[in-house]
Amino acid sequence: MANSCDVVVIGAGFAGVTAARDLSVEGYSVVLLEARDRAGGRTYTGTAFGQEVDFGGTYVHWTQPHVWRELQRHNIPPAVPLGIEKAYWLADGAVHAGSLEEYQRALAPLAARCFADARARFPLPFDVRAVDNSEIEKETIGDRLDSLNLSAYDRDVLDGSWSTLVHSHSEQGLAQMVFWAASKFGDWGAFFETAGFWPIEGGTKRLLDAVLGESRAELRLSTPVSAIEDEGSGVTVTTRDGERVRARSAVVALPLNTLADVSISPALAEPVRGMIERKHPVRSAKLWARVRGEVEPFCAFAPVGKNPLNTVRVEHRHGGDTLVVCFASDAAAISAADREGVQAALRTFVPGIEVLETAGHDWVGDEFSQGAWAHHRPGCLTTAVPRMREPHGRLHFAGGDIAPMNVGGIEGAMESGAIAARDISAALADGSY
Ligand SMILES: Cc1cc2nc3c(=O)[nH]c(=O)nc-3n(C[C@H](O)[C@H](O)[C@H](O)COP(=O)(O)OP(=O)(O)OC[C@H]3O[C@@H](n4cnc5c(N)ncnc54)[C@H](O)[C@@H]3O)c2cc1C
Repeated sequence: MANSCDVVVIGAGFAGVTAARDLSVEGYSVVLLEARDRAGGRTYTGTAFGQEVDFGGTYVHWTQPHVWRELQRHNIPPAVPLGIEKAYWLADGAVHAGSLEEYQRALAPLAARCFADARARFPLPFDVRAVDNSEIEKETIGDRLDSLNLSAYDRDVLDGSWSTLVHSHSEQGLAQMVFWAASKFGDWGAFFETAGFWPIEGGTKRLLDAVLGESRAELRLSTPVSAIEDEGSGVTVTTRDGERVRARSAVVALPLNTLADVSISPALAEPVRGMIERKHPVRSAKLWARVRGEVEPFCAFAPVGKNPLNTVRVEHRHGGDTLVVCFASDAAAISAADREGVQAALRTFVPGIEVLETAGHDWVGDEFSQGAWAHHRPGCLTTAVPRMREPHGRLHFAGGDIAPMNVGGIEGAMESGAIAARDISAALADGSY
């Protein structure tokens, strides 16, 4: 094992794996350090109910350039989801049922009003600082909901529709929601489809393995890092076991919420340091339920805080039964181990539905994620996040949490890993590192 290399990459999620692959195929020596006993990070194709399921990040889209290019290069298609015709939505204290089209008709004007300013706020989505967004950066999602003066019913319809993405009205910044809409032509529905509909055939692991398969980096699993030091002339990374790896540069591809546990020197400056200390607030959960029989394909939505499960969708058939994917805005409100609790929460929408088995991964309790996908607090997206993407001496941060275009997702992770690799490669080539 070489403890001296050109680049050390810390964290083998999609960001770190992409950066390690890109740099190593250019001929640089790369060591990739990963805390867990597997690569993939917040994507995790594991086993439940005797088949493979994605416990973490899952959905991708052909409008995501980094993901789509890799899928095509490796001949991996998206999986085609079951067609959904029925929708249930909890609004103003009652469950409403209708066709998916009826639900979408109720939602569309509310979403259009909510995100009417998206393109004006982010006219150049690839440059979040193109216009002054200091005002919107003070607002939370709850502030926007309140400002719309909706009826109780309409408010719940809108709030339920984004409940997959929202853990806290008061902690999550409005800017990221508006930015997401802006990045898809100002159309919330278009964003939502790209973010949450198309899985990868064979799971995210298939894509990850394809990228890893091209990498010439040395991957060291079960190797948590405790300290990263930029000494000016090089970088030293220390693992929890006390091993040291020396490199000319480092990609730090760790989840935002874990960075406070790693000693980084020189200390990071504000506003990045404060963002790391406060962490992003998304403490949501995703879980799977196997329900008896081939139930009618449905989706269901409940506003944040008003049901332990907030977004639910039939995903696959499974040997005469059905697999349902469920999102809970608050991971503390439900446990994937609590079959009866999951059944009770599903029966809010579909009385009599019978849950046979449940499965999930606790991303909030997992020390190497400490939360789900990133949604930034007010005041971060257009200030601390872009600052964090800039080089800090020889340290380059990467990750879906701080990605420029697709913040919060797999595409963003690949995008930011590629950018870090590009910048380090240039600095290595011109002798700056
Ligand atoms: C439940 C859930 C559902 C999601 N759904 C979607 C979706 O459908 N579509 C989508 O695009 N995105 C989704 N996301 C988000 C997406 O999974 C992430 O944005 C993306 O995977 C982040 O990749 P990353 O490489 O930046 O970080 P990570 O995948 O978190 O990788 C970071 C790596 O660093 C490692 N690490 C942590 N601490 C240390 C340490 N001290 N030393 C060494 N290694 C360390 C971790 O183990 C991990 O492997 C979802 C996320 C979750 C949790």
